[in-house]
Parts: sequence; structure tokens; C-alpha cells
Amino acid sequence: MLVSAKEMLTKAKQGKYAVGQFNINNLEWTKAILLTAEELKSPVILGVSEGAGKYMCGFKTVTNMVKAMVEELNITVPVALHLDHGSYEGAKKCIEAGFSSIMFDGSHYPIEENIEKTKELVDTCNRLGLSLEAEVGAIGGEEDGVIGGGEVADPKECKMIADLGVTMLAAGIGNIHGKYPENWAGLSFDTLDAIQQLTGDMPLVLHGGTGIPADMIKKAISLGVSKINVNTECQLSFAAATRKYIEAGKDLQGKGFDPRKLLADGTEAIKETVKEKMELFGSVGKA
Ligand SMILES: [Zn+2]
Repeated sequence: MLVSAKEMLTKAKQGKYAVGQFNINNLEWTKAILLTAEELKSPVILGVSEGAGKYMCGFKTVTNMVKAMVEELNITVPVALHLDHGSYEGAKKCIEAGFSSIMFDGSHYPIEENIEKTKELVDTCNRLGLSLEAEVGAIGGEEDGVIGGGEVADPKECKMIADLGVTMLAAGIGNIHGKYPENWAGLSFDTLDAIQQLTGDMPLVLHGGTGIPADMIKKAISLGVSKINVNTECQLSFAAATRKYIEAGKDLQGKGFDPRKLLADGTEAIKETVKEKMELFGSVGKA
């Protein structure tokens, strides 16, 4: 069964730890993350971007795969299936497909429109028992040509969106998606603290978790971050392990070309990354 992220994040905020959102791309990814969460007795959020949903043949395919896997693998820890950076239309599709959690990223709209659309989705999600994440202050990425610092949200706008009744709030605090550039200025803890002061119990979300130093992660958690998104780091560890396998010529030995063998080292590498993150975030044993 899939659950809303509300309870796990409320507990995380109270307990001063964070739950990881790990994005999935295929069966191996999903299996690696679910098995690691179960092994470590950690709650977990599976993130699905619209692009990944399309790649996996649609949100219904994703929901059915994840639900079946939770059952077949006897996963007992809380699992939320979450749309990552959803458009307004994508959010509606995921609600229909049976996702248990939605992110509506209205950060590119003027604040009034972001509020209007977020409010409508808050009502729908509340009625259906789903959690909803909203975003204020766009979080950039290398692909958007952002160099140096990411955007920083206006704490007053954060308060306005939080007051709409969203479950958790993502705010730009200098974080960036993907790899961080050499000259990155670091997280803006003053902004994070100001947001926390205004939004109180609201679990805050840190996007772009790849490559943020451990001490910054810990400080962010101490200032109210209860959900941290990890995507690129699993991709990098999967790619490195797969490259190593092929460069060692293992795909040419015996039945090494069998996808179950070819993808095995990469899958193990994802598990290792997820484990490291869950330990760093403090969610181990919290399920
Ligand atoms: Zn993000």
C-alpha cells in the first residue's frame, strides 16, 4: 500500500531528521530503493518526474509497478509515490493514476497564479488524502544555465503558500539541481531560518541534494528541512558501476551480457548511495 507523505514528514520534523525522496527511472531503480528502505527500516518517498513517468510508459504503469513491488517484496516501511515538479496537468494525471503524493511546481507562475492553482490542488489532495508539495522561488539547475548560486525564495511568499494548507514546502535557498558548480556559494541558512520562523510546523523540502556537503545537510535539517530530494547522485553511482563492469570486459565473459547481470552492479551501487543518504538524513530505524 502507498501512503501520503504527511505522517512520515510530520514525524521527521518533530524528530529532527529528514526523509529521502529518491527518484526512480525503471524497475531496477525502484527495487533498489525499496529494498534498501526496508533493510534500514526507513520511511521512503519515491519521486517520479514527468519525464521519467513518460519514459516508464505513463503514470498508471508506474503506480501499478510500485504497488505490486511493495506487495511482492513484502515492504512494510511507509512508501509514498510522489510526482516530482509536476505541472498543473501532470498533477491531475497522477492523482487519477493513484499516486499518493503530488508536487505542484507553480514557481514559474506569478505568485497570485501559483496561489490560485496550488489552492485548488490542496482541496483535491485533502479530499483524497494525498500529500501536496508546493514550491516557492524556482530551484535552478545547470541545464537552465544557472551558474553560481541558485535562487532564494521570499520568506513572506513561502508563508502565503504554506497557509494554503499544503503538506510540505520546497523553497529555493541557493540549492541547484544536478551537480554543483565549483564556485557555488552554498545554502542560504539565513533564508531557511527566516522561512522556518514564518512557517512553523511546515516540513520544508530541500531539492538538489546531490553534492551538498554533509555538514550543510545536517544544518539544514536542524533548521526545519524534513524531506531531501536525491536524484542525480543515484544516476552517477549507477553509471559509474555499469561503466566499470563493461570496461572490465565482464559483459563479454560467459553470460555477462544478460541484463540481469549487466545491470546488477549498477543496481547495487544505487543501494549503496541510498543507504549513505538515509544514514546522513537520520531516517534509519524511523519506520
Ligand atoms: Zn527538484
